[in-house]
Amino acid sequence: MRSTPPRFPIGLALGLLCVLLPLAAIWSYQQGYWSIPSLLPAQRFDVLIQAGHENRATGKTGAESRQGSEQQWTPIVADTAARILKNAGFTVKRVDAFMRDPAKSGGLRPAKTRLALFIHFDGAERACSSGASVGYSRRSDPLAAEQWKRFYDSYWPHEWMQDNFTENLRRYYGYRWVDASDAEMVLELGELTCPRQARWLKPRLEKLGELVAQYASTRLCQPGGPAPPLSPRCGN
Ligand SMILES: [Zn+2]
Repeated sequence: MRSTPPRFPIGLALGLLCVLLPLAAIWSYQQGYWSIPSLLPAQRFDVLIQAGHENRATGKTGAESRQGSEQQWTPIVADTAARILKNAGFTVKRVDAFMRDPAKSGGLRPAKTRLALFIHFDGAERACSSGASVGYSRRSDPLAAEQWKRFYDSYWPHEWMQDNFTENLRRYYGYRWVDASDAEMVLELGELTCPRQARWLKPRLEKLGELVAQYASTRLCQPGGPAPPLSPRCGN
């Protein structure tokens, strides 16, 4: 009698793969290691600027106080920043809360960009318990957040909160809709529900847009900044 050598359990291995691969894909997606837009063929913009909460009528409609509301303020900042960057030759995608052109309707739209900046003002249950802050995704370059904080801090006279200090900052819904090759960040420019912060912010909304544009153009063109190809604007 011949003994048959033990056979490699190929069926079992294939079965395991069929279970483990989708699990790994779902886990890494939830952790933010990849996004659906990264799989799509689409133009990559230099900068995507979102006016947080803009056009949202239900759900997360944003912070409000007697000084104003996020939905009034963030488009002013975003429009100013987008205009300056476009005039400087960068390709800019300016979007609303649904990641689409603010003048259009329809569902969420995925986008590809180098740098994605989501503009917000914080609202706090207890007034003046918050301040300016930055949130960023796992795929984002943390140095980009550091550079923004250093830059904005030379203007911003009030408090800072820790990076990613809320769940909304760590897991911002916009990260899933954007494939950013450099950095994707939520910029909370200050607490709108804190009267003294709001009084500083309100007359400076266009100035804040200028700062966002200045930061983005520096970030996009600096050596050691985003991976190539850089915008033709940067002379590369
Ligand atoms: Zn917000």
